Amino acid sequence: MGGRESDMVLLDANGIRCDGRRIDEPRRIMIKAGGLKNADGSAYIEFGDNKIIAGVFGPRDVHPKHMSDTDTGILRVRYHMEPFSVSERKNPAPSRREIEISKVIKEALAPAVMLEKFPRTAVDVFIEVIQADGGTRCAALSAASVALADAGIPMRDMVAACAAGKVADTVILDVNNEEDQAGQADMPVGYMPNLEKITLLQLDGVLSAEEYKKCVETGINGCKLVYELQKKALQEKYFQNGGQQN
Ligand code: ADP
Repeated sequence: MGGRESDMVLLDANGIRCDGRRIDEPRRIMIKAGGLKNADGSAYIEFGDNKIIAGVFGPRDVHPKHMSDTDTGILRVRYHMEPFSVSERKNPAPSRREIEISKVIKEALAPAVMLEKFPRTAVDVFIEVIQADGGTRCAALSAASVALADAGIPMRDMVAACAAGKVADTVILDVNNEEDQAGQADMPVGYMPNLEKITLLQLDGVLSAEEYKKCVETGINGCKLVYELQKKALQEKYFQNGGQQN
């Protein structure tokens, strides 16, 4: 990060970014609740050129049994990128990055899910990245939240996620792949808007204290936009179509 910025114009003299957006403008976001008939809950998200599907199974018995907890349910998350999701074929074996992102998404969802209501059981979240273009962990987290709600898992709030970052010494909303690779900072934020609580905050890059504060605020604003679309996706499935979609 930071090394290749001089090779490419990330912000022009009119304050327009490399993909034509303004600094505070998110990419096009489309969220659909449901879609997988064999899952208990599911969701599909397009976030710019990211295309991601999330499927939820459970609460269900835990195998192997010794992994179960008599006091609470457990949440398991698998984030996986398809080999064709990036321009150069990705090795289908789980990478360190996928293992890290699975853990990060699990920890970001956990505060929202009322696992204590399902002792001895597991809720499994499977995330498939079909196409990746920067910001997949945020898009995946937002889709997983909708899939959990679609599965009827009791939740304190939904987690919405969006990244903020810095290019050309300017704080921007929703970092794309080029900005992630060549920019100065990338800060994915996961947030529960009703509870006003952050559940994911990572930072790759260097920021001043002031920029840090601005990035957090910008990321939260992005999360609030995503949250409205998450609610709309659930409303469309349950109130407009009478739950007819899968
Ligand atoms: P995130 O997708 O959450 O931003 P990263 O910052 O690790 O996570 O990845 C940034 C982007 O880099 C991804 O969205 C994807 O477009 C690209 N990328 C990740 N892994 C690979 C890979 N193995 N090959 C090519 N591109 C990749």
